[in-house]
Amino acid sequence: MTMKKLRTFLKNHMLLVGLVAVVVPLLSILGLQYWSLLKLEKTSIVAGTVGMKNYLGDVSKEIKIFYKTSADQVLNVPAYSIQGENLHKAKYHFSKCTVEGAKRLFIASFGPDGESQMLFFDPNGMKKMAEVPEGEAHAAQRAVAPMRIMVKDGTTVKSQMAYYEDRDPENRVIFKPILDEWSKVVGTTGMILDTDYFKGQLLPRIVRETLPKFFPDGQDENVIVSLFDAKENLVYTSQKAGGQDDKIATGMPYFYDYSLVVRSRHMTPEQWAHWNFNFSLTLSLLMTGVLIGGIILALRTASREMRLSQMKQDFVSNVSHELRTPLSSIRVFGEFMKLGRVREPEKITEYGEHIETESRRLTQLINNILDFSKIESGRKTYHFERVCVEELIAETLKCCEVRLRQSDFRIVFEGPTEALSPAVLDRDAVAQALMNLLDNSVKYSEHAESKEVIVRLGERDGRIRISVTDHGVGIAREEQKKIFEKFYRVSTGLVHDVKGSGLGLALVKHIVEAHRGAVTVESEPGRGSTFTILLPAAENLGDRTETQKPTPPLRGDAPPDLAFKH
Ligand code: ADP
Repeated sequence: MTMKKLRTFLKNHMLLVGLVAVVVPLLSILGLQYWSLLKLEKTSIVAGTVGMKNYLGDVSKEIKIFYKTSADQVLNVPAYSIQGENLHKAKYHFSKCTVEGAKRLFIASFGPDGESQMLFFDPNGMKKMAEVPEGEAHAAQRAVAPMRIMVKDGTTVKSQMAYYEDRDPENRVIFKPILDEWSKVVGTTGMILDTDYFKGQLLPRIVRETLPKFFPDGQDENVIVSLFDAKENLVYTSQKAGGQDDKIATGMPYFYDYSLVVRSRHMTPEQWAHWNFNFSLTLSLLMTGVLIGGIILALRTASREMRLSQMKQDFVSNVSHELRTPLSSIRVFGEFMKLGRVREPEKITEYGEHIETESRRLTQLINNILDFSKIESGRKTYHFERVCVEELIAETLKCCEVRLRQSDFRIVFEGPTEALSPAVLDRDAVAQALMNLLDNSVKYSEHAESKEVIVRLGERDGRIRISVTDHGVGIAREEQKKIFEKFYRVSTGLVHDVKGSGLGLALVKHIVEAHRGAVTVESEPGRGSTFTILLPAAENLGDRTETQKPTPPLRGDAPPDLAFKH
């Protein structure tokens, strides 16, 4: 029982259930994505900053390697080349080396008591120099002083590592001890660094080479590298353009009082991460929106198809019932008459009338089905002619009069105050439309207190208005549009037990639209309905031909059971 209820609920609320089934997981995914994007935003800020720091570390490493390699190439002088008279031979050693980044090379040899002899060389040509600027000489002296003490003390040194002396920022010195075979210091070689070369050539070259490697795919455009001296003066920058306020700085190897600064040109890591967050979130929201839209569309189509197929099934059973009822009435009345059970002339007339109305109903139903079939296959044609509408309505009402009377209904006809303009109509089609409206007004007012159907005829704004008002069950607002769809029947509320095919109003709509008119409904549940057919008067139709082309089929597919041939 519960299962059955659940199944019916699922079937009736397919769109809602489908939406919940899709939207809930989608929103959960979206929530998860939001959460992971938040985390990603934080990590990308850190990653961006770390990336820049790493870059500075890499530049420092490159500078260190450069000077270390130079020192290793130039400053490793064998002890024998500086002992005694040999000192001058050291220049042959220097002349074999090429050195960049140094403005002076020097070599010092120490006697046993620490007395020293010092020679200077110009690295661009490796010439021995008789005189050097005072600052350079002092810097070299300062560098060798500790070595001289080691000589005096007879200290042995394990490795020939390089040392650094930067008390004079203009003359920074890298120097190395020269060791004899007993690892005793016998002299010193050194290079005085060329600061101009460092800031004008070495650093720019390293920055040029490392930036694209570290920040590929054009990201290097967003990175500005600058060098500031001890007094915070800008001495080098990779890009002249401004840049953001954020910056990451590091000191330089050998040039410790200088600072190398890296900053973003367009966006800081925070801004970039935030932009990325917003972009990804918008994209996800858009995609979710599109997905939900698509799913709603698919579900709507599926539920429409299901409804249509259900309506077709109902149609077949409804029509069978509709056909059977008048047929059995006709048979019963016919049998009574044949068997001579009725003799009184009034009864005979009454039975005859019953037979007539039931066969009219039958004809109307069959006409509806045949017309529907023609419309569906695009074969429905209309035969237009100039018609006096008052006459047409009077004839139609007359036809229905008996049926209405039999059901205890009364037609109240409210005609026009003035004569109507003639109209160009298909007589049968308009009569059929009106009959369908009258038939409905009786069907859906059976239990109403007032068994009165009001038919009004008039003309306003060049349009002929035929309206049918009843005091029956009425139609809910949300159903009022749907009732003109083929097969559609209001399946809830008071009309549940009234049989019908669901074709009547669809045909009315098709007929009036073929006449370039319209059909409207005003209704209130429990109080009744008014259906109004609006048709253009003849002067508003222009040069309309006698017979119209086949009209387009109604929306949707015809049920296979209805492919009538006639
Ligand atoms: P049916 O054969 O079911 O009457 P129709 O196309 O004529 O098919 O009508 C469609 C639905 O519109 C009906 O099932 C009924 O629910 C509603 N309807 C039509 N006319 C009336 C009316 N006069 N009063 C109340 N409901 C109506």
